[in-house]
Parts: sequence; structure tokens; C-alpha cells
Amino acid sequence: MSADSTTASQGLLDAVIIGGGVSGLAAAWRLRSRRIVLLESQDRLGGRLYSQRASDEDYWLNFGAHLFPAPGGVVDSMARDVGLETLPITGSMMGIAYKDRILTSGRVETYPLRLPLPLREKIAFARAGLRLQRAVARYHKVLAPRPGEAEAESRRRRLAYLDDKTFADFLGALPAGTASIFACAAHRATAEPTSLSAGSGIGLFALVWAGEGSLIARNLVGGPSVLPEALGTALGGRVRLGAKAQRIAPTSGGTQNVEYLVNGRVESVEARHVIVAVPAPIAAPLIAPISLRASESLAAITYGPFLSMAILTNEITAMPWDDVYALATPGRSFDMFTNHAQVLRNTSERAPGGSLMVYAGGDGAAQMMTRPDSEIRETFLADLHTLYPETRGIIAATKIHRWRLGNVYAQPGRHELQGALEGPHGEFRNVHLAGDYFAELGSMEAAAKAGDSAAQHVELSLAQRHGSAPRMGLEDVGADGVVD
Ligand SMILES: Cc1cc2nc3c(=O)[nH]c(=O)nc-3n(C[C@H](O)[C@H](O)[C@H](O)COP(=O)(O)OP(=O)(O)OC[C@H]3O[C@@H](n4cnc5c(N)ncnc54)[C@H](O)[C@@H]3O)c2cc1C
Repeated sequence: MSADSTTASQGLLDAVIIGGGVSGLAAAWRLRSRRIVLLESQDRLGGRLYSQRASDEDYWLNFGAHLFPAPGGVVDSMARDVGLETLPITGSMMGIAYKDRILTSGRVETYPLRLPLPLREKIAFARAGLRLQRAVARYHKVLAPRPGEAEAESRRRRLAYLDDKTFADFLGALPAGTASIFACAAHRATAEPTSLSAGSGIGLFALVWAGEGSLIARNLVGGPSVLPEALGTALGGRVRLGAKAQRIAPTSGGTQNVEYLVNGRVESVEARHVIVAVPAPIAAPLIAPISLRASESLAAITYGPFLSMAILTNEITAMPWDDVYALATPGRSFDMFTNHAQVLRNTSERAPGGSLMVYAGGDGAAQMMTRPDSEIRETFLADLHTLYPETRGIIAATKIHRWRLGNVYAQPGRHELQGALEGPHGEFRNVHLAGDYFAELGSMEAAAKAGDSAAQHVELSLAQRHGSAPRMGLEDVGADGVVD
């Protein structure tokens, strides 16, 4: 990987990929035997997959996405290609902590009875929960894949599902305690119930309630960043770090010229295709010279913030959260508590220390992330100590990360934006969009699928227009990214 090489000798590439998150990486991975360059503005790959190894190497600090999808998808297949394997999470994932009660087992239908809520709240919670359960059953039925259905049509159908009202409209008026529990769930999508579409809110519960069969219930030992790091190593000189794309312009010959800033210099690269794999608000100005309509739709896509704090602990005995992977924490400064050491707890001997993460989403996160780290730390730790008093005295290190574009979520009317996003774009039909925003809820699999699908279009077009151009092995690209 290189941050400072020139592209002058590269000549015409088959594709430039902008963005080294999981979406751009999936695109690059499919096209790895073509002449490609991946431009990433940061000094690391992975985007919202971001973890750091702790100094003792057993644990890792996690800041972003952590739940990996089931085998059979694009992410899993990339992981296997680079010799990695995700493991199923065995700890509780559907727990809830409300006031002084922590529930980590039992059926979710029983939660209203078991949580410390006044009777009026218990009834309201049970009613809303029942409505939601029925809606989730219908969601699975209505949105089941249809044989032979084109990807774009299936996407349109999913995005259109109940997107004429908000999740708050769907739930109806709720007393304060119950409302805070559903708001906490919506914060997992970085939204408030009043801004999230009803279909997406239901989709969120469909995902969370899927339990062991969930599409996202696996971990990567070593931390999520292990995957982008391994892909980056395999892609070698195809990856250019610290390279911020700032303009895409069509050439008279029908190729695209991509201008980017690297080490304070403007450089450019010409390619037959461009895949833009950055979050929608960043993609909007980049694609404006190619398609104003797509640019306007991208600008209208909604993202919310996440504020996460990774915590290393130094306990020497077993802890009450050892069997817990994820806990929703309504009414606290953070919305979720996650235990990133849980996947390591399946051995007979429990190693000392641990790694936790707490994170907030939605309006609360937006307000809190304007405060200094010290204040955020103090607020999060105070709430963590009331949640699990055993965390007092065992905090070894904390690290805060602000995700201003934490996750994409669908607002009512979202499906109307989709037509303009389906590519390819531009006069020469050679600019493609990819990213998690192609789905109603952002996830690494949605992002990877979109990147992989854009790359498949590129592959097809290259094969049709240019015949089977000579394919390159990884060894044909020098460590500085220059094609030999
Ligand atoms: C706290 C948190 C928890 C999450 N939990 C989960 C989870 O458990 N499971 C799950 O599946 N998903 C989860 N997600 C969502 C998931 O991380 C995202 O949906 C997914 O990673 C998005 O990938 P992407 O490639 O579309 O975008 P990104 O990851 O945002 O990648 C875009 C990349 O483009 C780069 N870039 C931006 N501008 C430019 C430019 N001008 N030029 C070049 N490069 C540029 C960025 O630096 C970045 O690397 C979580 C997200 C967060 C923040």
C-alpha cells in the first residue's frame, strides 16, 4: 500500500474505486485481476470497520461495526479468500438493561412483564411489542426473495415497504418509559423513531429478533479491522492510502479522469470505469458532473451519528457480563453495551482482562459528540458503573470515536430516491455507485453486496466492450501502485 507514489506511468486503468470501506474493498476484490486502483482518503482501510489491537494482543478495542454476517454472503466469502473465519457469537445478544434490571435471557415477549415499569407502561409495551411481532412476521413474508426478481426491483420493493409513515406513527402514542425503549432500538440505526420509516424500524427488529439465525451474529477474532488489513495486503500496490478523490470528469474518449489529493498534491488517474464507494453525502458532489439527478438523490439520503467508546478492562476474575455479547441500555447516555471479549470466553480458563464498547446513536449522540472526550468519558463511565458496578476500578483504558456519518437510515419516502441511484451513470455509462445506502439499513453485508454488484457490472462491460483484456496477477502491480 502506498501513500505517496505517482500514477503517471499507470496509463489507462480498467477501473478506479473511490473509498476503501467494505464496499470499495468488495469491488476491488472482485476486480483484483484487472488493472485497478483503489483510492482511500484515510491512512487505513476499512472505513466504518475499525478496531485496534490492544498492546497485549489478546484483546482489541472496537469502535465501529462488529457483527459479521452469516456464511454465504460477500463479506464471508472475502474473509475466507484471505484465510479468515468468523465465529458464531455464543453470548446473549437480545438483552436489555432498564433502570436497575438486567434481562439477558428468556423470550422477548416476557420483557414487558419483567422490566420495572408501572402497570400502564407494561400494558403499552406489551401492546406495541405484539404489533411489532406481527409486523415482523409480515415483513419476512412480504419481503422474501422472489425467484427471478432483478436485484434493483427487489431493492425497490424493500425500500418501499411501509415508507409512507414513520416508525413513531406505526408505534402510536406511548408512555415515556416505553417510548425510551423503542427509541433506544431506533438509535441502533442512528435515527429517532420520528425520522425512521416504519418499514425500516420493523426491519431493524426483524434483524435483532432473528436470534441465532440472525444474518449478523458472528465475530472476527482479532477485531473487525483484521479483514480490511488482510484484503489490503493482498491487494498490495492497487491500494493508495491518503488519497482523497475530489473530482470525476469524463474525457472526450469516453473514459473517466479522477483527480485526487495526495500529500498536498493534486494527481489524476484515467480509467474505463469508476466505482464511487463513499457515503452518500460525500458521493453527491463527486458525481454531480456525471449525473445531477443521482447527485440530488444522494444528497437527500439520511445518515445519523454514532458516538462510541472502546474500553479495556483489567479484571482478574470472571465478570457478570462474560456471557453477554450485547445489551440495549435505554434511558442511559449510551444505547448499547457490547462485550468484545465474549468470543474469547469459550475456553475453560477465563483469561484476565477484557474489552467492552458502549455507544450512543441518534440525537443524543449528536449532542454529546460536541463535548470534549474527557466529559464523554466521564458521562459514559458513570452510566457504565450503574449498569455493572463491577466495572468500578477495572478500567484500564478508554478511547472515543466520533462517527458523524455513523449509519444510513431510511426516512419516509426513501424509495422515491432509488431510481436515480441505479446505475450505471453518465453519458458513457461507466460510473457506478456503491455503499451501504443501497439497503434500507446500513450493514457491512449491504455495503459489500453493493460494491460487488457494481464490480460485476464493470466486469461484464469490460468483457463485452474490450474482449477479455489481459488479466493481471497481483504480482504485476508494484508496491508503489505503479503498473509495471
Ligand atoms: C459504531 C458502528 C457500529 C456498526 N455496527 C455494525 C455491525 O455490527 N454490523 C454491520 O453489518 N454493520 C454495522 N455498522 C454499519 C457498517 O459499518 C457500515 O454499513 C459499512 O461498514 C459501510 O461500508 P461502506 O464501504 O459503504 O462505507 P464506509 O465504511 O464509510 O467506507 C467509505 C470509505 O470511503 C473513504 N472516503 C470518504 N471520502 C473519500 C474520498 N473523497 N476519497 C477517497 N476515499 C474516501 C472513507 O475514509 C471510508 O474508508 C456499524 C457502523 C458503526 C459506525
